[in-house]
Amino acid sequence: MKQFVFLLIFLMQLLMVNAQQTTNNKEMDKVIKSEAEWKKNLTSEQYNICRLKATELPGSGRYYNFYQKGHYQCVACGNHLFDSDTKYDSGSGWPSFYDAHSKNSMLLQTDKSHGMVRTEVVCARCGSHLGHVFDDGPKPTGLRYCINSLALEFVPDEKKDR
Ligand SMILES: [Zn+2]
Repeated sequence: MKQFVFLLIFLMQLLMVNAQQTTNNKEMDKVIKSEAEWKKNLTSEQYNICRLKATELPGSGRYYNFYQKGHYQCVACGNHLFDSDTKYDSGSGWPSFYDAHSKNSMLLQTDKSHGMVRTEVVCARCGSHLGHVFDDGPKPTGLRYCINSLALEFVPDEKKDR
């Protein structure tokens, strides 16, 4: 019986290591869930983007032509990703930002899918796919974070007139 328990613990640790393999950032509390849990917590559209790395149709997202003051967090885990100050109209059909809230809030990884080499942007806390980053953005960074609306949750600045 004892051996069985040890084996079980060993297997569980193995699974945890697998889930964390792309994330080595120690400063942040990771959000690790099974795919079944993600399916439960996200809408099917959100799940397709965040966990299956799909891309929403250009111009379809709720944050494309959207310029309210506030910040954007990961729809899957609430990680603060972007600020409205860095959002701009790139004409691409997707919400675009020229800078991240913090370099630690997201991870960049090479994506060779669809016959292209792109840089994928992933939430550092939960590993959700957010979009891609390109180097044709405006000053001062020259970057264009091209992000799916479905991967974001907007949080408005607190209104003072209330
Ligand atoms: Zn996240």
